[in-house]
Amino acid sequence: MGTLTMKFGGASVGTTTALMQVLSIILQEHERWENLIVVVSALDGVTDMLLEAAHLAQLGNRRGYRRIVATLRTRHLALVENLPLANSESGALQGEIDRLLFDMLDTCQTMSDYPETSHAAIDQIIGVGERLAARIVAVLLRSSNLRGVAVDATDLIITDSVFGNATPSINLTRQRIKENLLPMLTRDIIPVVTGFIGATEGGQPTTLGRGGSDYTASIIAVCVDADEVWMWTDVDGMMSTDPQEISEAQTIPELSYDEVAEQAYFGARILHARMIGPLREQRVPLWVKNIFKPRDPGTLIHHIDSDQEHSIKAVATIHGISLISAYSGPLTEIIRLTDEALFTTTGNHAEVMISAQSSDRSFLCFVIPTSAGPEAVRTTRSELERRLTSRESKTPWTVQPVVIITVIGTHIDRQSHLTARIFDVLSGIQILGLAQGPSNCSLSFVLKIENNDDALHRIHNLVINSAGDTD
Ligand code: ASP
Ligand code: MG
Repeated sequence: MGTLTMKFGGASVGTTTALMQVLSIILQEHERWENLIVVVSALDGVTDMLLEAAHLAQLGNRRGYRRIVATLRTRHLALVENLPLANSESGALQGEIDRLLFDMLDTCQTMSDYPETSHAAIDQIIGVGERLAARIVAVLLRSSNLRGVAVDATDLIITDSVFGNATPSINLTRQRIKENLLPMLTRDIIPVVTGFIGATEGGQPTTLGRGGSDYTASIIAVCVDADEVWMWTDVDGMMSTDPQEISEAQTIPELSYDEVAEQAYFGARILHARMIGPLREQRVPLWVKNIFKPRDPGTLIHHIDSDQEHSIKAVATIHGISLISAYSGPLTEIIRLTDEALFTTTGNHAEVMISAQSSDRSFLCFVIPTSAGPEAVRTTRSELERRLTSRESKTPWTVQPVVIITVIGTHIDRQSHLTARIFDVLSGIQILGLAQGPSNCSLSFVLKIENNDDALHRIHNLVINSAGDTD
């Protein structure tokens, strides 16, 4: 067969047991595919620790970031010790781990001496987790007689300079991949590429936003014309809702690119929202699979003839911020202020999800991406309030954190019997805003945070019972 790109997430590389699964999957697929490309995330929890180290360095807390580096060293060395590696490989790997962490310590040191250091330094620090993981996986492959080679994506993925949330340039990346990755494939090497990280054209390190290893896999797949992409996680596939919120959540066998893009954008944490676009364009099929159940099919995401679809498949929930005012008129300035606040706190530009006006009122709602982290709602809200207060205006705006609950299913716009049932199950819950997605496969409700659990349960029951319904 042709070329397969497989991405292994943080949980798949985080323990010896999971790493042995990774090895057996790669051994098996190596037999079946002509070319294999592996993309890895950092061990789970590592990027959070690296971020913390970067913040401590900015604050000049030397002891704090040193402690983190020591913990990271112990964790990675313990993992390596428990793997069946050849002695010579194991010693060299430990040396590599030390070198990477030592360099990182150096960057932290510079940062605490000069706290105004560039954002590039933060990206350099937080990308170390992927570099460590790629080296471990590559050595593990070599110990099983596969030609695994760790590749830093700074040599492959060329991005803009939005540090912390960079976007790759497909053309420049394709060129680099042609020069630096394709020759490896012809030599039967299995490249083990660091997810999440890239570099500007000038060579400054960048990262693609939290959860960005998925995006790396999709960009690489598109640039090498891969036949398929497989994302290995520790859940059974894309789910009808977040199983941590609702235990009855079910695996969805099949989704279209539009459906999964909406699901990821509106809160499903399994996939990075921006990874879908490139795959959709080239119609590269994507599988989401559970590393611990490799024989289970998982979820297939591919092109589906949308006229055949007649059910709602999932419900997702995400945090957002709404603004309301007794004002009716141009909204340009308020949108600009929100954009600046969101960009300052999360590195994301504000995408207006809903903007509605009546004769004497305005309502706006923005999504706070899950990738921005758990603190993002609070920090964005206070940043926005600060900017609003410092601006002179007679009509004050009220900023309120909200949840956005989104129902996903192709042609939801044509399924009036289902939309009627959705409104029916939500009866008694105040709906602050409402939007139908432009791809016609999502319907979103803006609700007060306290209504989240109740609404999610009610709609999820409908999702489960709607399977197979037709007009
Ligand atoms: N390690 C990075 C993160 O935790 C990227 C990823 O896991 O996809 O966000
Ligand atoms: Mg992820």
